[in-house]
Amino acid sequence: MFYFVKKIYLKHLQHTTIRTMICSTRSLSYGRNLPEISFLRSKESEKRWQHLKYQRANFHNTQKLQLSIYGVEGICFAMKLCSIFSGHHTRRWWLSLNPIQQQEIKAWYWKRRNVFYGSLSIFFLVLLMYYLTHLERDPIEKRRRFIIFNKSQQADFEDRYLTLVFKNEIIPPHDPVYRKIERVLWKLTNSNKKIFEDRAWSITVVDLPFPTAMVTPRGQIIVCSGIFKVVQNEDQLTFILAHEMSHVLLLHMIERYSYKVLMTAVFVIPLFLMWACHSSWKAILLYLETNFLYNVFLSLPYMRRKEMEADIVGLQLSARSCINLKEVLTFWKNMKKYLDLTGQSKYEMPTFLMTHPNIKSRMEELVRQMPKAVDLQNQVGCPNSSIIRAAEKFALN
Ligand SMILES: [Zn+2]
Repeated sequence: MFYFVKKIYLKHLQHTTIRTMICSTRSLSYGRNLPEISFLRSKESEKRWQHLKYQRANFHNTQKLQLSIYGVEGICFAMKLCSIFSGHHTRRWWLSLNPIQQQEIKAWYWKRRNVFYGSLSIFFLVLLMYYLTHLERDPIEKRRRFIIFNKSQQADFEDRYLTLVFKNEIIPPHDPVYRKIERVLWKLTNSNKKIFEDRAWSITVVDLPFPTAMVTPRGQIIVCSGIFKVVQNEDQLTFILAHEMSHVLLLHMIERYSYKVLMTAVFVIPLFLMWACHSSWKAILLYLETNFLYNVFLSLPYMRRKEMEADIVGLQLSARSCINLKEVLTFWKNMKKYLDLTGQSKYEMPTFLMTHPNIKSRMEELVRQMPKAVDLQNQVGCPNSSIIRAAEKFALN
């Protein structure tokens, strides 16, 4: 969730498989023949149909590649590098030509310019089609999201990697801190059975001073013991775990890496042109500027939105667990106090450069979401006392 450790490791937490398109071909020619066949022949045809359907499905369902987060990072990096090197070499080749040769090539290009423009248009059209055909609606928040990786096949490479990274700091399961977190998780999963379905969650508690928690796409929740510097009770802890679990439920990391692949593909040609048309220094400056603008206007606002989304869904999950909802706001107040006391708030960057929204806007959004959370507590039949407490005025001071 919150600060630096996660910022470092969040980049390495997910892997997935490439999603293949299996559905559209199933209903083409065979479906049309079915109403025309007689009843006696229908069973036989149905078998044949089923057989063909399986054949087709199997064909498209061939073992999907399990692509780890490192794989995605590696592919994106390789694509960028290819663009840069090919652009750089194209420029060197161009500069090595004499003016007459350059004129000849310009004339050759001018004659075929429509072919180039057409190819570019097709390339971007294919990307657009790919984007549109991979949009889906998130069943919890009903928002559209772009997913290209398989949701069900996630290897445990990142989980094992993190376990290895933290192996010296891992707190054993018999420790009271671990037990406390386990108890809260058990309560949370029990009260949200319908939403979690058969999803498996695991906890790793590490003895690190950071007040933070994080989660892998497979549902391994890693909690640093430093979180108890700001967490005062189980209700607050419930919200933290629920926030992390929401990231998994909403497929935030899978979505983020899906966008990463798409945007890298979109920038392949502009990156090539940067290095082909400008000297290396100019190209580097241009690249850094573009990267900065991309982060400020696209990537960081997207990440902040996802954090807010995890807060909102986390609040709903916690509400179903019958916590005192006011404790969610108390937790954020504690976090603010902690940052002030440790002097960290002095070094806080402006919001537009942050991966997470600032505490004030998180609290404001949570206050806006409180009536819905209270309704949820009513619906699931939480004891009256917790609803009354929740209905108290959610003061920000
Ligand atoms: Zn988070």
